[in-house]
Amino acid sequence: MTESTKAIVAKIEAQLIADRRDFHRYAESGWEEFRTASLVARRLSDLGYQVLAGRQVIRDEDRMGLPPAEVLEASWQRAVAQGGDREYLDLLRGGFTGVVGILDHGTGPTVGVRCDMDSLAMAESQSEAHRPVQEGFVSVNENAAHTCGHDAHTALGLGLARVLMTLKSSIQGRVKLIFQPAEEGVRGAKSMVSAGVLDDVDYLLGLHVFTGWTLGEIHPGMGGFAATEKFDVLFTGVPAHAGGNPQEGQNALLAAAVAVLNLYAISRHGDGATRVNVGQMQAGISRNVIPPHAQLVAETRGANSELSRYMHDQAVRVLEAAAEMYGCDLEIRPMGGAPSAESDDQLAGRVARVAGEMGGFRILEPTESGGSEDLAYMMQRVQERGGQATSIGLGADLYGISQDARVGRDAVLNAHTPEFDIDERALGVAVELLTRVVLDIVGV
Ligand SMILES: [Zn+2]
Ligand SMILES: [Zn+2]
Repeated sequence: MTESTKAIVAKIEAQLIADRRDFHRYAESGWEEFRTASLVARRLSDLGYQVLAGRQVIRDEDRMGLPPAEVLEASWQRAVAQGGDREYLDLLRGGFTGVVGILDHGTGPTVGVRCDMDSLAMAESQSEAHRPVQEGFVSVNENAAHTCGHDAHTALGLGLARVLMTLKSSIQGRVKLIFQPAEEGVRGAKSMVSAGVLDDVDYLLGLHVFTGWTLGEIHPGMGGFAATEKFDVLFTGVPAHAGGNPQEGQNALLAAAVAVLNLYAISRHGDGATRVNVGQMQAGISRNVIPPHAQLVAETRGANSELSRYMHDQAVRVLEAAAEMYGCDLEIRPMGGAPSAESDDQLAGRVARVAGEMGGFRILEPTESGGSEDLAYMMQRVQERGGQATSIGLGADLYGISQDARVGRDAVLNAHTPEFDIDERALGVAVELLTRVVLDIVGV
């Protein structure tokens, strides 16, 4: 069985790369993954999977950080023009870009595999040194670039679907392939969790490719994802003539400025790491008008959910006080969020054992990233129900810079930068590893 898995994966290697490059070229950011998700659904359906899509797997009220309706519609139209699957596009319209493929074969546990599909809302490098430019798969979509590797996750999810279908007769249980929208900004997972997608999952696997780790370097159970809250803040004051009647104005810019300085002054917490950041501030309308509006784009984080709540509560207190000080109205809009999560040692150990059997891996020591992961919502749900979850990190550095040799960090194509690119050999490695882990759980 194990030999044939390698052989089966080898046969689809070219398809994996072609798919990754196709998703890369038509990059779509969070909640706008219409083309991507529609093609995923079509492929799963053609392979013989039971497919759930759109509102069947996304709860409307729990979609966070949704773009405006006109943006969603324009992206939907773009997906139609760029060859999305018409039948499934109709189900996804309006930003319901989640897809689940189910393979049901006999009685046994359910294994879920999460693949995220969104790009970043940023421009990709147009440099001649950038391989996607050289080889013609640089993003053609404005302000959308796969600079976190989710194009690879989507492609390897489809590869996994194909291989598992080929090996269906050796499966006793269910496989649920979960294609998630809007991971960036931790906005999408919650809506799939509340739609019940994870409620029957006994084992959950998520895999992320990383630069800075070479091919074969693997972390079978990442943890220490920071809990986080993302929010926009609107201060509304009263405009007035800055020379004639400044006393009649309520200055929203000052309220925002005072708030920003004091957000960074929130006391540290003795129990662990906390973060606060204001990433954007916009205010005012004109030189001689007391600014009536100000907007902040901000986030808080904590090493665990309690610390995150502490930071968020303190932030709200600061914002309310600043608004009060300048007589402004305040609105805080939640834009995203994720709990903290830890991988289960048992499942991570299983992944490590299977990786050892497969060969060619080097297991990395646990590291705390300080980052947040939307997968945490799904992990939490599975763990609450007594299931196990793990987040796998897989090395995919294009230039072979190892974690142990990060002195030359310049050469690492860091995630979320315009030059990001990966070693595509990681696709086949990931499919083989995930296939083996799934079969280790539900194989006969
Ligand atoms: Zn990312
Ligand atoms: Zn990512």
